[in-house]
Amino acid sequence: MERPLDDEVWRRFSRLQARRPGRFAIAALMRPPAVGEDEELWLERARRAQALAPLGLHTHWTAPDHARPTGGDPAALVREQGEWLRSAGLDVELFCGGGWYLDADVAHTVAELGYADCTATAFRPAYLEPGAAHVQLDEPAWLELGSGRRLLELPTTHSIGMLARGLLGPFRRQIVHAYFHDTDLLDRRRTAALRIGLTFLGLKRTATDLRELQRGLRPAKTMSFANSRG
Ligand SMILES: [Zn+2]
Repeated sequence: MERPLDDEVWRRFSRLQARRPGRFAIAALMRPPAVGEDEELWLERARRAQALAPLGLHTHWTAPDHARPTGGDPAALVREQGEWLRSAGLDVELFCGGGWYLDADVAHTVAELGYADCTATAFRPAYLEPGAAHVQLDEPAWLELGSGRRLLELPTTHSIGMLARGLLGPFRRQIVHAYFHDTDLLDRRRTAALRIGLTFLGLKRTATDLRELQRGLRPAKTMSFANSRG
């Protein structure tokens, strides 16, 4: 969720979450309020999202409209936001780095906060520069972070377009994990593609959610974080 404080974006997201297309619980991975944004309203909406589905942290390091970090200590901001969410009484279970950014220190912090991570993608985001920090993974895995710590990685496998194209063929992956942005819901065609995609996916496959996966899935695959960088 990029703009949970935008009333129209929130209304559309909230309605979709309540409808559960395909019987899927749609997790809300929310960008915390930036300086000057309304914390109380944000927390109220996060509580409402959490009542319907798992809740996650989506960090934008640079600005509301600039997700990836441009300096500083990326892990420190994740820790600060995670502690704020905890102090507000929210039970956050998931993390997705803005702009699909994940480095070793951020991964460590996410594991310490007790979250599962969804920042890895099964596809290479087109806008990333060669060599940009990013984790590419086809299926869930444990990421070994060193010093005995590991992070459950539940990679994002499908965009709205990929989900819609998948309607034409079987979804071969063990787990299909689609993402979208709340702002996509301002576009009627994208919203329709998402709803139809999820409805068909729900007919073809067994619905689960990120909480169930986090609690029940024990992936066979383990890899070191250093070797997972795409
Ligand atoms: Zn974002």
